Amino acid sequence: MKILINGIQSNLRFSSAHIIPGHESCGYIHGHSYFVDVEIEGERAGDFDFVVDFKDVKKYTKSMCDELDHRMLIPVYNELIDIKDFDKNNDSIFDLKKELTVYLKIDGKGYSIPSVDCVFLPLPYTSAEELSKFFAETLAKKLSEDYDNLEYVSICVNEGIGQGAVYRKDIK
Ligand SMILES: [Zn+2]
Repeated sequence: MKILINGIQSNLRFSSAHIIPGHESCGYIHGHSYFVDVEIEGERAGDFDFVVDFKDVKKYTKSMCDELDHRMLIPVYNELIDIKDFDKNNDSIFDLKKELTVYLKIDGKGYSIPSVDCVFLPLPYTSAEELSKFFAETLAKKLSEDYDNLEYVSICVNEGIGQGAVYRKDIK
C-alpha cells in the first residue's frame, strides 16, 4: 500500500535562492518557492497496521525543508563553482560552515557571501532533479532506521506549481 503527502497542503515548503551555473537563463541568482510531495510504498505493519506514520515522514521532511529555507543553495560539487581556500577533493563541506564569508567563483563570476546565508550541498546542481534525489535518499535512510517494511520513497520537488522532478529511491 502507498501513502501520499501533499507538500503544499502539509506545509513541506521552502523558499531558497539558487543558480544553475552555465545555464543561459538560470545562471543568475534567482529564487523559488519550493514544495515537496512524498509517496511511500510498503507493507502495512506494526501495532497500527500503518505503512509508515505520517507524523514521522512529515517531521523528517519538514526538518530538511527548514534547513534549506531562506538560504542560498550552493552545489559544492558543481564543476563551474570554485570556492576560495576549499579543495573539493580533500576538504569537508562542514568546514565551509565555519567560515564567516565564502568567496566563490561561479562560471567566472565573483561572489562573496556570509556563510550563514548559504547551505552547502554535496551535489553537482541544485536543480529540482538533484534536490528530489537528495530528499529521497536522505528520507529513505532516516526512515530505514525505524522501519523495515518500506519498498521505496519517492519525492517530487516542485519549483512552483506545475513544475517538479520526481526521484524514487528503492529500499528493498
Ligand atoms: Zn531555478
